[in-house]
Formats: sequence, C-alpha cells, structure tokens
Amino acid sequence: MSAVVLHYGELALKGRNRLWFLSALTRSVRASLRGLKVRQVRSLIGRIVVTIDDDSEWPEVRERLACLPGIDNFALATRMSMDLDAIAEAIVRDLPERPVPSFRVRARRADKRFPVPTPEIERRIGARVQAARGWPVDLSNPAFVITVEFLTEDAYYFFERTDGTGGLPIGTGGRTLALLSGGIDSPVAAWRLIRRGCRTDFVHFHSYPILSNTSQEKARELVRLLTRSQLRSRLFLVPFGGIQQQVVVSVPPALRVVIYRRMMLRIAEALAKTTGAQALVTGDAVGQVASQTIENLAVVGSVASLPLLRPLVGMDKEEITRDAQRIGTYAVSIIPDEDCCTLFTPRYPSTRASAEAVEAAERALDVSGLVDAAVATAVGEVAVFPGRPARIAPTVPESL
Ligand code: ATP
Ligand code: MG
Repeated sequence: MSAVVLHYGELALKGRNRLWFLSALTRSVRASLRGLKVRQVRSLIGRIVVTIDDDSEWPEVRERLACLPGIDNFALATRMSMDLDAIAEAIVRDLPERPVPSFRVRARRADKRFPVPTPEIERRIGARVQAARGWPVDLSNPAFVITVEFLTEDAYYFFERTDGTGGLPIGTGGRTLALLSGGIDSPVAAWRLIRRGCRTDFVHFHSYPILSNTSQEKARELVRLLTRSQLRSRLFLVPFGGIQQQVVVSVPPALRVVIYRRMMLRIAEALAKTTGAQALVTGDAVGQVASQTIENLAVVGSVASLPLLRPLVGMDKEEITRDAQRIGTYAVSIIPDEDCCTLFTPRYPSTRASAEAVEAAERALDVSGLVDAAVATAVGEVAVFPGRPARIAPTVPESL
C-alpha cells in the first residue's frame, strides 16, 4: 500500500498553536487532493500521512503538494508492518537497478516504543542492502538515502524526497489584498504572502476599453496559477482608464505615476474593507523604476492606513525573476501587453515627488468620488483549485 509521508518544518516550532497549524495543514492537504483517489489524510506524530489508492496518480499528487504552503518535503512511501526483516526484504526488492556510488540508511523512530534502537535498525537494513548490491556505505555524504520511519502502527520507507514550498499553512497568517499588475513582480510579492499562510485576494486595475483586455486575461491567469497555493482566491477587476484620463487633464506629467499609484492604493484599501484584508501587498522594489525611489514609495504609501507590505523591497530583479520562474508565473507575466499606465505615463516621471506637490495636484481631483466610483464598478471573480473553473460573479464585491 502506498502512502505519501509529508514533513512540515517550521510548524513544529509553533508552540501552543501547533495543533491549530496542523489542522489547517491537514485540511489544506485534503482539499488540494480533491478528485484524486486518496483514501485518508492523517496527522501522525510529526508527519501527515496520505494513503493513496493508485500510484499512477502520484505525479499529480506531487505537483499539487509541491505548491502547498506549510510542507517542508514529502515522499511517496511504502507502508509496512513493524517487522524489521520484512522491511529490509521489501527495501532490497524495491531498490533501483542503476548503480549507486554510495548509500546510507536513515531510520527515524517517531514512536520510540519500537524496541530496536535507531543505529541498530540502520545497521541491520544497511547490511542487507550491502549484501544484496555491494554498494559502499557513506554516512556523511551518501549519493542515495534509504529512509525508514517507524510511526505508531506502521513503518514507511522511501528513497526520494520532493521539496515542498515551505512556509505556513493556508489561512494561518490572516488575510491580505495584493495589487496585481500583469508584470513580473506583483505575482511574486503575492506568492510570498500566500506562502506565509496569508489568504490573499487580488485587485487588478485595467484600462479596458481604452486598451485591450489582455491585462485582465493575464491577471486572471496569474490568479489561477497562484490559486494552486491557496485553493481559493478572489480577484477584483477595477476599471482605471477613466481615472487616468482625469489625471492626465489635471496633473503635471511628472507627478502622474505617483498619483496613479496613490489612487490604486486608496481603491484597494476601500476594497479591503469589504474583504476583511488586514494589509495591502505590492511588488515594489527599491530603485527598480522611477516610481520606486524611497521618496516616491513614501509618498505613495502614505495614503494607506492599512499596513502596506512590500515583500520584494530589497530584492534584485534577477532574484524576483527566479522566483517567478519557480512558481510558474513568469511565462504569463512576460506576455506583451499595454500596461494600463504606459499609455498615460510621461517619459520622465519625477523620482522625488514631494508630498506637498502631490497633495496640491490632487486637489484638482475629486479623490473620494473617484474611489467610490471605482469600487462600485469593480467586478469580482472567484478562482478555485482544483477542479472547477473560475466561477464568475459579475457583481459588486460585497456579494462574494
Ligand atoms: P510589476 O512587475 O508588479 O508590475 P513593476 O516593477 O512594473 O511591478 P510598477 O509598475 O511601478 O512596478 O508597479 C508597482 C506596484 O504597483 C506593482 O508591483 C503592483 O503591486 C502595483 N500595480 C501597478 N500597476 C498595477 C495595476 N495595473 N493593477 C494592480 N496593481 C498594480
Ligand atoms: Mg508594472
């Protein structure tokens, strides 16, 4: 019988909240494997054990678990009764045919009631493997590791671990609202919060019908990809072209980008009130573009009263790009698209907008009227994973 043995790292450190974290993780593992032939998801002394009926589903199981926050690593394992000889025999039978330069056995007695001491287990199984294959043992830097874990009722062995995403289970970190452009950075920023256990909703500002609806399609696809890591997401699509036109007629060119960003944050904050988000998230990184100098980040950020999280703030573009590739959003982010701001953006935005100048320029705008109108025209959608396609609810956000 096959099982997937999941190890969680950081979770174990969470003191009195441990049980709560664990039940969140168990729940999310169960939900993420919906639709597959999974018989049981159980939490067992420091691990989660998933019983699967059909090994042919392992590639799909692996793909889904690899996205799920809160998992350190996991492995497809064989379940055995607690009989050392039978375990050694099964291991020898299952070893790969290929030559192996060195190996070791690593045993764990999660339940110490199993009477044989760990080093003795390792020696006995190791001797059987060596007798069968003649592979040399290397305890410190083995090329091949045979892991055997003794839990309360059963033992499990496996040869290969898959890295998990790390982080903390879905929903254990509160709720955030991420400003999602179609670019490379903001999906990575959102993912960093999702990985820390924050349920993250998304808001995307678009200039349709002035521009094509490509940016909305990209935002939907990015949300679909990120939903693999949190299983359910909300996306708000907010028409922004009208606001940009008003800014263009009444704000000096150099200040426009900063004012667009301030308007976006104000609208996001109003939406956050309807979603219960406790913080906003953007993909800003210091110095990446003119609007992201410390001065401009400060002037933009000052309109938010919720905490404004910028998880990429100190990262280089190469590092962010690597993350984007790892989480699979990169390919979508680089699809060409007219950014809602490029059309309305001057060639030389101010790199040091002063708060006074920006506030003076905004006096020409009906800021709260524009925010209210934007919130009223926002369209909310829900994406769920796995299975069902994005459910579209073309209604006001409150109904979601
Ligand atoms: P990104 O790659 O995320 O677009 P960027 O380096 O291009 O980032 P900017 O375009 O200055 O930077 O945007 C800074 C942040 O503002 C973005 O990371 C995102 O969080 C938010 N933002 C920008 N444009 C939009 C938009 N159209 N809709 C939602 N959020 C946006
Ligand atoms: Mg951008």
